[in-house]
Amino acid sequence: MNIWFLTGSQGLYGEDTLRQVAEQSQRIAAALPVTVEWKPVLTDAAAIRRVMLEANADDSCAGVIAWMHTFSPAKMWIAGLDALRKPLLHLHTQANVELPWSSIDMDFMNLNQAAHGDREFGHIQTRLGVPRKTVAGHVSDPFVADRVLAWSRAAAGLAEVRTLKLARFGDNMRDVAVTEGDKVEAQLRFGVSVNTYGVNELVEAVDAASDADVTALVKEYAELYRVAPELLGERHESLRYAARIELGLRGFLEAGGFRAFTTNFEDLGGLRQLPGLAVQRLMADGYGFGGEGDWKTSVLLRTLKAMAPGGTSFMEDYTYNLTPGEELILGAHMLEVCPSIATGTPTCEIHPLGIGGREDPVRLVFDAEPGPGIVIGLADMGDRFRLVANEIDIVAPPHPLPKLPVARAVWRPRPNLRTSAESWLTAGAPHHTVLSTAVGAEELTDLADMLGVELLIIDADTTARSFAKELRWNQAYYRLAQGF
Ligand code: MN
Repeated sequence: MNIWFLTGSQGLYGEDTLRQVAEQSQRIAAALPVTVEWKPVLTDAAAIRRVMLEANADDSCAGVIAWMHTFSPAKMWIAGLDALRKPLLHLHTQANVELPWSSIDMDFMNLNQAAHGDREFGHIQTRLGVPRKTVAGHVSDPFVADRVLAWSRAAAGLAEVRTLKLARFGDNMRDVAVTEGDKVEAQLRFGVSVNTYGVNELVEAVDAASDADVTALVKEYAELYRVAPELLGERHESLRYAARIELGLRGFLEAGGFRAFTTNFEDLGGLRQLPGLAVQRLMADGYGFGGEGDWKTSVLLRTLKAMAPGGTSFMEDYTYNLTPGEELILGAHMLEVCPSIATGTPTCEIHPLGIGGREDPVRLVFDAEPGPGIVIGLADMGDRFRLVANEIDIVAPPHPLPKLPVARAVWRPRPNLRTSAESWLTAGAPHHTVLSTAVGAEELTDLADMLGVELLIIDADTTARSFAKELRWNQAYYRLAQGF
C-alpha cells in the first residue's frame, strides 16, 4: 500500500525557487511517520488532474497527501480535486519550525508561503465539498505525526474493505434483527462482497484434511498454548477434530480469496463441533469473523485488523457487574474471542456447550490484557449504516473466574456504565462489536469519513442528553446528505 505525497506551487517563482520547493518538500515527506511516494511539484492544472487520475487508477495507491508549499492558485486544482476518488489528507505545514527572525528577507517570504497557500487550497476544497482530513503543524510535532498515522491506517482499512470478500456459512440466526442488513448497499458503500455457502461445502473441506496435517497442527497447539491434559489424553480425538476444522476452514477461505467469514450455530450441517478454536486462531491471523451470521461485524473486524497490528477481536456485551461505583461489563462470546487481545498464554480446553447441540467444542480460554481500548458496532438503520463506538478501559477481572470456560474481556466503559449503555441503546447500536486496543477514535473517525458513514462516539465527555441531541441532528443531516 502506497500513500502519494503531492506538493502544490506555481510556475511564477522560477526554476531556482521550484528546486528549493522540491528539496524541502522531499524532506517533509521523509519526516512523516508513514512511507510516502513523493511526486514532482505540481504547477499547472493539467499535471494536477493527471496525477489525480493516476492515483485513482493505481490499486496500490491508498490515499493522497497534499501540501501547498508555496502559493498554488486553486482554480488549477478544481479539475483534479473533482476527479479524485482516493482519500485525501491536507497537510498544513512548513519547512522550518522557527521563523528566522534576524535573517528573514523577501526571498524567505517568497519561498515559505504555506500559511496562505494552504488557505487558498482549503477554500477550494470546501467550496467543492471535497471530503478530506486537515492536519496543521510541523511534521516534527508528535501530535501531527499521530494524526497523519491515524489517517494512513484508515486509508489501509478502506483499501481492504473495498476489495474484501466475505464467506457466510449459513444465514443469520433466526429472528435476530440487528445482524441483518442490506448486502447490496454494503457492497456499494463499503466495497465488500458478501455471499453465502452451504455449510456442507465446508464440511467436505474439513473431512478432506489429511491426518498428517492434523498431527502437525495439534503439535503446534501444544507449543503455543497450555493444552488441557484430557485433550492430550482420553479426549485427544476432540482436539484432532478441532484441528481438522481449522485446516478445512482455512483452506476454504484461502482457496476462495476470502478474508472474512461468519458461522451460525443453527446451521452446522455435518460439523461435529461448533468451530471455536479454529475461529479464534483465524481471527488472530487477521480474518474477520462474526457469530450467528453477523457479516457486518465480520466486515468491521477485518477492516480494523487491516488498519493496525495488535489486539482486535469479535466481542459481545454479555453481562454486567452493577455494584455501585464498580460497574463493569463482562464481554465474551460462546467461544469466539480472538487471542490477539489475550494477556499471558491461553489455555486450550474442552467443555460442554448447550448451544449448537453438537459434541463439546475445543476453545482457547484467557483474560484480555488490561489497558485503554474501544468497542465499535455497525448497524443497518434501514436507510443507512451507522457506526457507534465507545472508549473503554479494559481491566483485570476483580475476582478469578474459575468456572467460566470461555475467553473474556472485562471493561469499564467511558464515561460510566450508565451513560455508555443509555447512549448505546438510544443509538440502536448492536450487541455484537469489535473490541480493539490497536486502533482508537481518531482512526475510526477518519475511516467513517472516508466511507461517508455516520459514526457516533461515546467517550469521557459524553452526556446522555448531548448524545441524544447528536442523534437527532445526525438523523436530519444524513437524510439531507443522501439527496433525492
Ligand atoms: Mn452472539
